[in-house]
Amino acid sequence: MPQPMEKLAALFAEMETAYETTARLLDFSCRGCLDNCCNSYFRHHTYIEWAYLRQGFAALPAERRDACMSRAEKYVLQAEQALARGERPEIMCPLNDAGRCGLYSHRMLICRLHGVPATMRFPNGQRRSFPGCFRCQEITGGRDNAPAMDRTLFFQRMLLLEREFTRAAGSLPRLKMNLAEMLLKPLPSGL
Ligand code: SF4
Ligand code: SF4
Repeated sequence: MPQPMEKLAALFAEMETAYETTARLLDFSCRGCLDNCCNSYFRHHTYIEWAYLRQGFAALPAERRDACMSRAEKYVLQAEQALARGERPEIMCPLNDAGRCGLYSHRMLICRLHGVPATMRFPNGQRRSFPGCFRCQEITGGRDNAPAMDRTLFFQRMLLLEREFTRAAGSLPRLKMNLAEMLLKPLPSGL
């Protein structure tokens, strides 16, 4: 029977297919983009993504891990300073190597979704639409009927996997951590 991490890898693969299908319909790609959204500030919320990230990170060569850790330490300080000034941090992700993700196969959920337009249905029945990144919006021109990736089932399955993964560890605090913190801090015992 597949373990939660294997199921997560399979779920990510399905998300990638759905993302690519939407991108193809829009004739959209990141190729040639002068922006790099890896400097966007996000806090992540699932322990299973954290553990998956760390699993991939542990397999990197030691010198790459060291370089990322030292960037992560600087990231945490700069992020704290920006937040203390009331600003949203805009700092390159410590895993980014010269513009490219250095841990692409194990990157976070949000890194896999940003770009194409998306929709999402919440448990209360409310629907939300996401217009995609600024470059994709140039293609869609804000059209309501532009192709969009439906995130609903992916998020529901992600939540089920998170529950399955954390069950053995008992009650854990709500997670709200940026990626640099996820590299620097140890996972809770039991995970
Ligand atoms: S997602 Fe959009 S903004 Fe980010 S790199 Fe790709 S094209 Fe550029
Ligand atoms: S994990 Fe990878 S894709 Fe996500 S922000 Fe960091 S470098 Fe970019």
